[in-house]
Amino acid sequence: MQRRIKMQEIILIKYGEMALKGMNKKTFEDVLVKNIKRRIKSLGKTFITRAQSTIYIEPADEGFDIDEAMTRLGKVFGIAALCRAAVCEKDFEDIKRVACEYLADTLEYAKTFKVTAKRSDKNFSMKSPEICRELGGVLLEKFERLSVDVNDPEITVTVEIRDTNAYVHAGNIKGAGGLPVGTSGHALLLLSGGIDSPVAGYMMAKRGVHISAIHYVSPPYTSERARLKVEQLCEKITPYCGSIAFFCVPFTKIQEEIKNNCPEEFFTIIMRRLMMKIAQKIAAREKCLALITGESVGQVASQTMSALVCTDAVCEIPVFRPLIGMDKTEIVEISRKIDTFDISIQPYEDCCTVFTPKHPKVRPILSDIEAAEQNFDFEPLLQEAVEKTELKIFNLDM
Ligand code: ATP
Ligand code: MG
Repeated sequence: MQRRIKMQEIILIKYGEMALKGMNKKTFEDVLVKNIKRRIKSLGKTFITRAQSTIYIEPADEGFDIDEAMTRLGKVFGIAALCRAAVCEKDFEDIKRVACEYLADTLEYAKTFKVTAKRSDKNFSMKSPEICRELGGVLLEKFERLSVDVNDPEITVTVEIRDTNAYVHAGNIKGAGGLPVGTSGHALLLLSGGIDSPVAGYMMAKRGVHISAIHYVSPPYTSERARLKVEQLCEKITPYCGSIAFFCVPFTKIQEEIKNNCPEEFFTIIMRRLMMKIAQKIAAREKCLALITGESVGQVASQTMSALVCTDAVCEIPVFRPLIGMDKTEIVEISRKIDTFDISIQPYEDCCTVFTPKHPKVRPILSDIEAAEQNFDFEPLLQEAVEKTELKIFNLDM
């Protein structure tokens, strides 16, 4: 049974100095705090302060759901580690009392523990080893089943002596890592309903990139349900990415004209080049500096190196392919972690599977592709597709 303890509990967020290398620390912190605020705003009022590479989140509302806040913050990039902690006076008697009460539920069921102390206030009367020794003794006495294991303890009781208060907690949890979304520019993710592209978006967001998404639909060859699936994927990655502007491009006419005017073996590669051209038009309008795809070298015919050369030939901005050197099993592992896998494997058609050639050219030659595209002027259709593109915004608090 959960004990009811009248005690102030806060969340400590650590962002690790390593992440700041070569980066403007102030910008990094400002963006991280902004992202954190947006993520927990709907849970109630909080006071957020920062000191010594730590962000303190102090709930100001009675009903603030700390469990939910921890879950949400676990998906915020830029956070190296986080924990919930009890606030105590900077007085060893209070630290002992709080540790015994606050950690009772945890320590009652644990077998091994150790105590660590971090003393950023060097004026505190006790040194770290002394705090560890004394508090360790108290806890050993109070919780009879406990024994000390300094190498591999189940629980690391941590005491942090800081400027205004001391804090007691049961150790840090690993955060999502990476850089705060918004510190690395804005890029446009080509998002399909497959396994790969949501993972690609997640990986670039982890490096601090703010993401918008573009999806191509070809009704009636692709169904409304297929589009909804992609929107569900967008929702799933939103907690990591922040808000996502989702552009849905009508692609039917273009695909039909490829079919009517180009050699079958080049259908897919020409389609991919036209996708890239449309993506660049939207990217320019939305001030995205790069495109992102879920391609991985050799995975399918359109992802051989020769095919990628042909696709890239129409790209004037960088195309990031964070999965390029990954095996499918590694990609699947991440998609399970971010919970997109089960949606991705739902069997709805993608526009890529419309008019797929029986024998796609595995090693296309750029000049052949360029020649094959000359039979038809796609430019007006590309313009029209951009004009008819629909926008939907995915937000954190949906
Ligand atoms: P995914 O699992 O991401 O669908 P895939 O292995 O099925 O990738 P392709 O279907 O060839 O490979 O697509 C390669 C990449 O092109 C995708 O990762 C995605 O970035 C982009 N893409 C494919 N289809 C679409 C679409 N309908 N809308 C937007 N982007 C798409
Ligand atoms: Mg696909």
